[in-house]
Amino acid sequence: MDRRKFIKKSVMGSASLMTVTSLNSSTVWAKSNIKVPAILGGEKMYTGQWPKWPIWNSATDEKKLLEVMRSGVWSRNKVTEEFEKQWANTLGAKRALAVVNGTNALNTSLAQLEIGWGDEVLVTSYTFIASVSSILLNGAIPVFVDVDPETFQMDPDKIEEKITPHTRAILPVHILGLPCDMERIMKIAEKHNLLVVEDACQAWLAEINGKKVGNFGNAGCFSFQNSKNMAMGEGGAIISDDDAFMDRCYSYHNYGNPYGSTAGQFSAGTVMIGTKLRITEYQAAIGLAQLQRLEEQTDLRNKNASYLQSLIDEIPGIIPYRLYKNVTKAAFHLFPFRYQKEDFKGLSRTDFLSALRAEGVPCSGGYSELNKMPFLKNAFESKYFRKFYPTERLNYQRYAEENNCPLNEKLCNEEAVWIPQNVLLSAKTDMKKIAGAIEKIQQHAERIIANTK
Ligand SMILES: *Cc1c(COP(=O)(O)O)cnc(C)c1O
Repeated sequence: MDRRKFIKKSVMGSASLMTVTSLNSSTVWAKSNIKVPAILGGEKMYTGQWPKWPIWNSATDEKKLLEVMRSGVWSRNKVTEEFEKQWANTLGAKRALAVVNGTNALNTSLAQLEIGWGDEVLVTSYTFIASVSSILLNGAIPVFVDVDPETFQMDPDKIEEKITPHTRAILPVHILGLPCDMERIMKIAEKHNLLVVEDACQAWLAEINGKKVGNFGNAGCFSFQNSKNMAMGEGGAIISDDDAFMDRCYSYHNYGNPYGSTAGQFSAGTVMIGTKLRITEYQAAIGLAQLQRLEEQTDLRNKNASYLQSLIDEIPGIIPYRLYKNVTKAAFHLFPFRYQKEDFKGLSRTDFLSALRAEGVPCSGGYSELNKMPFLKNAFESKYFRKFYPTERLNYQRYAEENNCPLNEKLCNEEAVWIPQNVLLSAKTDMKKIAGAIEKIQQHAERIIANTK
């Protein structure tokens, strides 16, 4: 008797199970069929401990940090310079500047490319708030491009229809750590003479044809916040090959004091409007420790992600992410798939997530619809916007209609499921348990629905 028949037979023979849906997947996790879903009191699929995040290894990580602490040199100095040099080298960029966080890496980049009042910036609707707030903080208007649900990224086919005479820049976000279609986006930008600022705040070491993301546009921005794959608590960086731009970013992050080409012919004191966005030496020391492991971890995430993808690909109602064909490496800050409740007897995504969590698999439904949140109206009604924009450009009703993104809406409200990156640092066999947990939920969907009513 083959395995599948055996499973079917043993399930049929079990009086405790009321309904058994078709066992049409070749990846059926043998034991899952005969077990009750954890949410209904059965055994969990995964009972171990997922790798903790962030990782701190005393033996290898503490020496440099202690040196910094004992030196008393805690403000920006040589360790930060060393981190910047290594970050630029790792990414294959000419220059890197460390700043306090990813949000301010974006703010600074837009400011130093003089993207601001009067301008429109094209951005994906499926992203973290900071991608969009950086546009508004500089006085520009975000224009939302709908997603390609297959890849979760800004749909390049929908960019050109959003370009107006006000459009100055595109802000592609490599969301979830999966690269955007940068080659096409850059072609569109060149054709329309637009600047490009890449939000790579989730995409450390991700690559397109071997070139690391963040290097395609005029600037690339990164985050090193605690949850990020490259963590230092708080922190961020800008990369670029443009020396004049990087000199301006440096000045800006240091009160506007002269740096490199911003110093000009003579020492003239503070040379431009600036603020203070410097990281500390201990953050840089933590960053250098984390950086040692980043490539290996990224490769492991890629291996486990593509294995998990292959397992769940065969489950009806589960549509895993797709990478653009030129992507040679992703960062997998999150492992995403789309959930179709029709294939789960109508089990809502919320209840699916609860059931999956009960099986020991951390997961969430991901982002809400940014393009409909109150901060946009708040900006349009602000004193500054009213002062700097003609009334006809501040018709919020019209703006909201023009920025409707139906595919993003579906992704946010019905379909997206995320599994966090630390899960992908676990053993290959644990990926099977995730797939098994999903199949178990599918097989018992009707009972789960009956129980949650
Ligand atoms: C985390 C993140 C940011 C902001 O980075 P912080 O370091 O938290 O300020 C911006 N964009 C995206 C896509 C992010 O995930």
